Parts: sequence; structure tokens; C-alpha cells
Amino acid sequence: MTQKRIAIFGSTGSIGTQAIEVIAANPNLFSVEVLTAHTNDELLVQQALQLNANYVVIGDEKKYQSVKQALANTPTKVLAGEKGLEEAAALDSYDMMLAAIVGYAGLKPTLQALENNKTIALANKETLVVAGEIVMKKAVEKRVPIIPVDSEHSAIFQCLVGEGRNKIDKIILTASGGPFLGRKPNFLVNVKRDHALQHPNWSMGAKITIDSATLMNKGLEMIEAKWLFNLEPNQIQVVIHPQSIIHSMVQFQDGSIKAQMGLPDMKLPIQYAMAFPQRIVNNFPRYDFRKPNTLSFDEPDLRTFRNLALAIDALHKGGNMPCVLNAANEIAVYAFLRNRIGFLDMTEMVERTLQKISFIENPTIEELFETDAESRNFAASLVEL
Ligand code: NAD
Ligand code: MG
Repeated sequence: MTQKRIAIFGSTGSIGTQAIEVIAANPNLFSVEVLTAHTNDELLVQQALQLNANYVVIGDEKKYQSVKQALANTPTKVLAGEKGLEEAAALDSYDMMLAAIVGYAGLKPTLQALENNKTIALANKETLVVAGEIVMKKAVEKRVPIIPVDSEHSAIFQCLVGEGRNKIDKIILTASGGPFLGRKPNFLVNVKRDHALQHPNWSMGAKITIDSATLMNKGLEMIEAKWLFNLEPNQIQVVIHPQSIIHSMVQFQDGSIKAQMGLPDMKLPIQYAMAFPQRIVNNFPRYDFRKPNTLSFDEPDLRTFRNLALAIDALHKGGNMPCVLNAANEIAVYAFLRNRIGFLDMTEMVERTLQKISFIENPTIEELFETDAESRNFAASLVEL
């Protein structure tokens, strides 16, 4: 394999830093071309020096001068702001974008990279939730692969390798259930941010950790799966599997089920996406079937975790509704993380926004940008932010 030049969008986050560990462990396979961060200039500079990145982008323009100064004696070029992200995504000099920005902010750079014929390793699920149809069409038109990094989607992708035109009956997305599995609304109503930020199996960024606690994450993943694997909504099933050993499954037309398994460690799907189609050696801990352990499965509690029900509804309605769902949810999580609203208020905010915003069946990208802005404004108006 020739060395792949990686552009990590969101290099200072949970996915970004783990990707850097993978790259640092495999210098013959990967090099870093671009690194981007929103506000953490110190870590960005440290990463650029460690990996000799050719470009860095600092989102917060106020920090441009300090990053520039810190990298003054290096060949690293420094860009800033949204424009800087766009410029970096349009560069010729990288082979693959690891899309690891969190939220809606990841959409435009990813679209830009597709336009630029670059392979995408996709962690940013919100991109497909907001504009899955447009993004996948662009990828097909450009003949550019989008390789999932999200562990469930990586699992499904891995189960499909070698299956050619064999048809999928359904996919089974596993969900850990998060820290509040088995709890009821009378408990959830009093949940505070610090408790919700403690995920039992995975260490992740704040937004996705809250989404995992509300099960919105699984809803976003259902929509992500629809677009990645070209499925109908009723082909996507969610199963609670608290041990997070089976990362997801595919059932084929003959009823046979394939699963991809392993200990929960995001470095594995990150490495798989970056090295695809190769598998590379590592020293990550292995799952041991001989140790006494139980793998259990259950139905999700949609009455308690209503965010998942709302997401399933948006998945079925389609059009701009997943975009509304995502925007309202981003505002809701932001408000919850700042202790402005309670745990169950997040669901109410999303539900009211879904009721308020007008349905568009086949939105253009501009209409999705407008839907996003309108939904955010409305959701924010429900609480003083
Ligand atoms: P994080 O919060 O840890 O990191 C986010 C990164 O995005 C940071 O580098 C930050 O600087 C950058 N960023 C944030 N806001 C930005 C903005 N407005 N503009 C530009 N850059 C911005 O998040 P994470 O947990 O690493 O998740 C990243 C993405 O990967 C999310 O979409 C998440 O759903 C997905 N994902 C994460 C995991 C995980 O284990 N962390 C697993 C599956 C999928
Ligand atoms: Mg996931």
C-alpha cells in the first residue's frame, strides 16, 4: 500500500485524536496533510509539530495569530475560519478526508471534499442525517467511496464485503442503551449533565455522549444507515445489546445473519476505514470468548426514550424532517450541556420543532441550509440561550 495522505477534519476531538494514534503507529501507511480544530489551538499546534502537517485550520479566527506564531519556524501553512475549512477541503494534496467534525458544521467541508473527488472516511453522521440523499448522489456521480467510521456502520460495511449483489433483508443496529438503560421518565426527569456524560462502554465527545444517553444517537444512526446502504426504513432494526461486543449485523435474503464483533474501541473502525481494503496489524486488546460473559439483547424502550421514536418518525417522513430533527437536537444538547434545560426537555424541544417547521419533500441543498437555520432559531426561541 502506498502511503495515504490524510486530512483530519476535527483532529482535536475524540475521533480525531484516536485517528492520530493510528497514524502515528503506522507511519509507513499514513501521513497527515491537513489538521483542523475549532477552538483548541494548543493541541492543534502540538499535533501539527508531531506529525509535520502541511496545513492546519483553526476555526476560531481570533486564534489565528497565535497558531501562526507557534508554527512560524515550520513549513506548515495556517488557515482560519469556515473559509479556511473550505479551502483545505479543496486542496489537491490529500488522498482521504477523515470527516470527524461534530454536528452540522461537518457537512460543508465534506461536500467540498466530494466535489474535489476525495475518498471520505465518515465519522460525522450528521452529514448524512441532514443531506444524505444529496451527499450520496454526489459520491456516486464523482465515483468516490464513503467508508463509514461509526462503529455500527463499519460493522455493516464489513459484513457486506464480498457479498456483491446479494440482497440485504434487514440490518440490525446494536445499541448499548447508554447509562440510563432500564430507567423510566420519573428518573430521567432529574438527570444532570455530569451523570449523562458518563457512558458505560465508550469514551466520546460530549454531544454524542448525550445523544447516546437519550438514544437520539441510534436514531441518527438509522438515518445514516438508510443512506449509506440504500435501505428502506423498515429494513433497519434497533436492538439493545448492553455489552457492545456485536457492533451490528446484516441479515441476507436467505435468512443468514453476519455480525462483526470485537471489544468496543473506536480505533478499530477508524483504522479499518483509513486502510480499507487492507486490514493492518495492531496490539489492541482482543475479546476472549472463554471468559465467562453473557451477550444479551432486548428491544429498545421507545416510550421512555422518545428521541428514538421521533427519529424513526423523521426517517419515515424523509424530506427535510431529518434535517429539522438534527438541528433541534443540536440546540437541545447544547442547552442541556449548559444546564439550561432538563434531560426530558430535550425531547420536547425536538418534538415541537418538528411540528413547527414546514415539510419539504425533495429539498435542495439551499433549502436544507434554510431548514437548518430556521429549526435552530425556533428551537432556541423555546429556551433563553
Ligand atoms: P468531539 O467533540 O470530541 O470533537 C469534535 C471535533 O470537531 C473537534 O476537533 C472540534 O474542534 C471540531 N469542531 C467542533 N465544532 C466545530 C465547528 N463548528 N466547526 C469546525 N470544527 C468543529 O466529537 P467526536 O466524539 O470526536 O465526534 C466527531 C463526530 O464523529 C461526530 O459526528 C460523532 O457523531 C461521530 N462519532 C464519534 C464517535 C466517538 O467515539 N467519539 C463514534 C462514532 C461517531
Ligand atoms: Mg455508533
